[in-house]
Amino acid sequence: MTQLQRLAIAPEQCFEQTVLLTPEQQHYLIHVLRLKGGDRFIAILPQGQWQLAELQPSPNAAQLLEPIVIQTELAQPITLMAALPKGQGFEEVVRTVTEMGVTTLIPLLTERTVAYPSDRKLERWRRIATEAAEQAHRQIVPDLWHPVSFDQALRMAQDDRFATQGHFICVTDDTVPHLLHPLINEPSMGILMMVGPEGGWTPTEQAAAIAQGFRPVSLGRRVLRAITASIAVVALLAAHIDAAQTAE
Ligand code: SAH
Repeated sequence: MTQLQRLAIAPEQCFEQTVLLTPEQQHYLIHVLRLKGGDRFIAILPQGQWQLAELQPSPNAAQLLEPIVIQTELAQPITLMAALPKGQGFEEVVRTVTEMGVTTLIPLLTERTVAYPSDRKLERWRRIATEAAEQAHRQIVPDLWHPVSFDQALRMAQDDRFATQGHFICVTDDTVPHLLHPLINEPSMGILMMVGPEGGWTPTEQAAAIAQGFRPVSLGRRVLRAITASIAVVALLAAHIDAAQTAE
């Protein structure tokens, strides 16, 4: 069953048991995969359930047939607040952290971040997240926010929705504990993690985050590029959450 193609469906495409396909989805199903009316695929619905779907003779619609029970999401949420790197670098972050299971991805504008991205870039990142979620058999597409300033991010981190997550900030200072230590000591916690830009955090930013309750952590003694740091951190967190679930 999971060999079937998976397509993420947006709320505005659902009308009870009928799904109206976007032109890109129709093109993909019909011209790339060569599906015909009556052929099936898996619809990933906005709340995360999967449904077996059947393409209709008129190719702009599909019928939902029955739920498919799966569980591919991490048992605890991961929120990544990552400073925007230069150029195209964030695309790689979006793709890889989505594959590994990130729940919420918040691009950060910091003092040493170069530019505010255009709306087209944000759309492109959301498309990349959707494709990565489909290919990784995710049940949800991660929530990818509009970029927020560092100060807004600190305020938002106090919101109820992040209250149950441990707050951490990655810093290139090897006097702070390695991320693995809090993970091992507090096994079943959701995580909100901040990763800085290529130029690093300013001392003021780092101090403000720590004053707000973010615990500074290290990823080891090598200084990673911002992109690598985001990918490494989500790999570590996801591995830790998965391993805690399957521990004997
Ligand atoms: N010259 C900068 C380098 C920044 S690296 C500096 O010394 O701070 C970009 C971001 O990746 C950092 O702000 C930090 O959040 C993260 N990072 C890179 N390597 C890291 C490491 N070994 N431990 C923890 N965080 C790291």
